[in-house]
Amino acid sequence: MEYKSFLIKYGEIGVKGKNRYKFEDALVRQLGLALKPLGSAFHIVKEHGRIYVDMDGAYDYEDTIAALQRVFGVVSICPVLRLTERSEDAIAAEAVRFLREITAGEAKSFKVFTRRIDKNYPGTSEEISASLGAVLLDACPNLHVDVRNPEIRLNLEIRNEGILLYALSIPGPGGMPVGTAGHAMLLLSGGIDSPVAGYMIAKRGVQLEATYFHAPPYTSERAKQKVVDLARILARYAGPVRLHIVNFTDIQLYIYEKCPREELTIIMRRYMMRIAETIAKKNKGMALVTGESIGQVASQTVPSLLSTNEVCTLPVFRPLIGFDKQEIIERAEKMGSYETSILPFEDCCTIFVAKHPVTNPELSRIKKSEEKLAERIEELVETALRTEEIVLCEA
Ligand code: ATP
Ligand code: MG
Repeated sequence: MEYKSFLIKYGEIGVKGKNRYKFEDALVRQLGLALKPLGSAFHIVKEHGRIYVDMDGAYDYEDTIAALQRVFGVVSICPVLRLTERSEDAIAAEAVRFLREITAGEAKSFKVFTRRIDKNYPGTSEEISASLGAVLLDACPNLHVDVRNPEIRLNLEIRNEGILLYALSIPGPGGMPVGTAGHAMLLLSGGIDSPVAGYMIAKRGVQLEATYFHAPPYTSERAKQKVVDLARILARYAGPVRLHIVNFTDIQLYIYEKCPREELTIIMRRYMMRIAETIAKKNKGMALVTGESIGQVASQTVPSLLSTNEVCTLPVFRPLIGFDKQEIIERAEKMGSYETSILPFEDCCTIFVAKHPVTNPELSRIKKSEEKLAERIEELVETALRTEEIVLCEA
């Protein structure tokens, strides 16, 4: 079956009045971004409270479905026939052709579901379903009716602007279209967790930017490239991601020089949060997002999270907070970031990792240790912010 149109179904809960337009416009925009890499055969049409992707010319069916399945807000994707002829005979002829093609002669049960949205169309929905069902049974000996559990649900929608015929409903990811729920800054490392955290927040409609802290020459150019690659994988779902790359080396070396070894990670993490928040605020960011999960490492115990959280004034979203590593890995595999995340380029300079980091840092002690940085830290943070590199990461 060569479809020329897809009906995009989306959730309508909470999408009323003015919000509905915001939601639909964002969905249209995200659909456009998702289909852009596939060429120019696509027209996204918003019509009578419905969104269609219409094809004009050759396209790859599998790739198109895969791209549409990455757009948050899409509940299902229905490849449809859009008919302009409205007579009962014309509809029946198309329906016969359609069912013959999709069943390819195999024995199947079916049921017709009619929605008569055009109330001027003659007959009730039940009558239309029954008479079309009878025509189909007659014309296709491989079909039989099953009203309880049909293998094929043939949907006929009679609308003022045209007739729709479809039988397939392919699940979308759900969620909300990116751009409907504000902006947030993701702290993106080269690990498994943070890309998944970004995915989950983008799925709620949040537009993401990202910040990566690198420490050349302790972290390599390849480690940085890996983060760019991860941001591009994330961009398949989240739309283009502006990645801020911050040189963290001098700050790390300074902390290493002045502060107790076992507090290094916590203090470093506090500076990462501070800097990410500063960049967020300059760029419409309203929240920070991290891949932290309770107890995963020493810097993610509850007392450690208290310490890193304390320096932030923006809300910090940690969507993985209650997940086991295995659950996060499964999600990373599903979103397609896992293979890249496990490439063996160090994302943190091992010399800065203490053998016995504190797991129960006392905030007052951490603050005391940070006082030892008073002389130069402001200038170092300022330099790091001034010299940030910005990479626009697109799918
Ligand atoms: P991930 O798998 O996301 O790297 P992790 O298990 O390595 O996480 P940590 O190193 O403790 O955990 O980092 C916790 C969170 O802090 C990360 O999920 C990420 O959001 C942020 N983060 C850590 N290192 C960096 C970095 N170099 N640049 C940006 N963000 C970072
Ligand atoms: Mg990490």
